[in-house]
Amino acid sequence: MSEFVSADRLAIAGGRPIVTDLLLPYRSVGAAEIQAVVDVLKTGVLSSFADVWGEAFYGGPSVKSLEHLWCEVFGARHAVSMNSATSGLIAAVGAARVGPGDEVIVPPFTMSATAMAPLAYGGIPVFVDIEPDTFCLDPELVAANITPRTKAIIAVNLFGHPAELQRLRALADRHGIVLIEDNAQSPFATEDGSYAGTIGHIGVFSLNHHKHIHTGEGGVCTTDDDDLALRLAMIRNHGENAVEPAGVEDITNLLGFNFRMTELSAALGVVQLTNCEQHVAPRQRLAASLTDAVSDLPGLTGPHVRSGCRHVFHVWSLRYDERIVGVPRRIFSRALAAEGFPNAEGYQKPLYLLPVFARRVAIGSGGFPFTLSQRRYERGSCPVTERMHYSELLSFPNCMYDVSERQAKQLAAAIRRVYHARASLMVHA
Ligand SMILES: *Cc1c(COP(=O)(O)O)cnc(C)c1O
Repeated sequence: MSEFVSADRLAIAGGRPIVTDLLLPYRSVGAAEIQAVVDVLKTGVLSSFADVWGEAFYGGPSVKSLEHLWCEVFGARHAVSMNSATSGLIAAVGAARVGPGDEVIVPPFTMSATAMAPLAYGGIPVFVDIEPDTFCLDPELVAANITPRTKAIIAVNLFGHPAELQRLRALADRHGIVLIEDNAQSPFATEDGSYAGTIGHIGVFSLNHHKHIHTGEGGVCTTDDDDLALRLAMIRNHGENAVEPAGVEDITNLLGFNFRMTELSAALGVVQLTNCEQHVAPRQRLAASLTDAVSDLPGLTGPHVRSGCRHVFHVWSLRYDERIVGVPRRIFSRALAAEGFPNAEGYQKPLYLLPVFARRVAIGSGGFPFTLSQRRYERGSCPVTERMHYSELLSFPNCMYDVSERQAKQLAAAIRRVYHARASLMVHA
């Protein structure tokens, strides 16, 4: 550092970054988690699942405790653990009886697994645009896209905020189709007092290492429907062997996978779920301080929380209006990063632009299942998603970091500093 470095100069122009302590990855594994895993290790039995109908079809004691506790905490009738939310989404689509050529409505602004799940059964993902304030499915557009071929809707509760779940559930019930919630990012979010993940017919939670509560890898499906619960369990664990002894008549999609969670992960999950608020409250506090920091800055808009909803802030989102701020988003984002504020321009590229859709190659090389549908995947089809991704959204992956109170203040100060010095940024354009 030379003597020319001024405390006031932006870090992108050679000043000292305002976030002085590097943000560390979120680390939630404490003594209780370690003890729980060691206790399982000492038994020597790391999984008790067997692919035969009977007690072991549903796994061992830790898997059962996690599922039991999950039902209690979220108020669901059934919880079926999985080895990931990706597996949970595939199982949910299978349980919903989606078959080749059937349509499943999904948003394009989500982690890719949401839209891959229908393809596993030859289903056709139909991308429907999002609302600009919550980044979740627009229910009016969902209604307009339901056809006789629609079998399910996968609503994503993105960034920690619920989609319009009750409206979507009513719509799904009216059409006799299944509402699946991809609730990977929003455990403990609520809509009118009900937990996200429990309003649709099936909710899918993720326990991967950067979600609110984690077991390394893992997932849980919730449902109040006995038939769907049985079907989820069959798909999780080689259902083809179990349908006959279980007396299951409708074996649609019940060839199974191995989506089973280990006893180690389940034991870890029980501890994390017991202390769940500890994994939510810090995210909410940080989000509140960041949102407060931008509340008087024209052109910057913090996350929207719909009336009656609780947001759990997997991601803290910032809507950026370049016409008002006067600096390209790209430059603002780089200046923030230089201050030690990790952020991304946009989020996930609109999923219909991925090669799997653009080139129409999914299963085999002959175009299956797209050959069964007239649907097209083209740039421009979901303008709100494209606007958010390519020009308006800046996102901070809240869930990936452990942020101290001091760092929270510095992050908030970083936004204000860059904003107030924005005129000096144009040299970087
Ligand atoms: C993380 C995530 C998934 C996938 O979860 P895994 O447990 O890693 O399979 C699916 N959907 C969304 C929205 C996610 O954020």
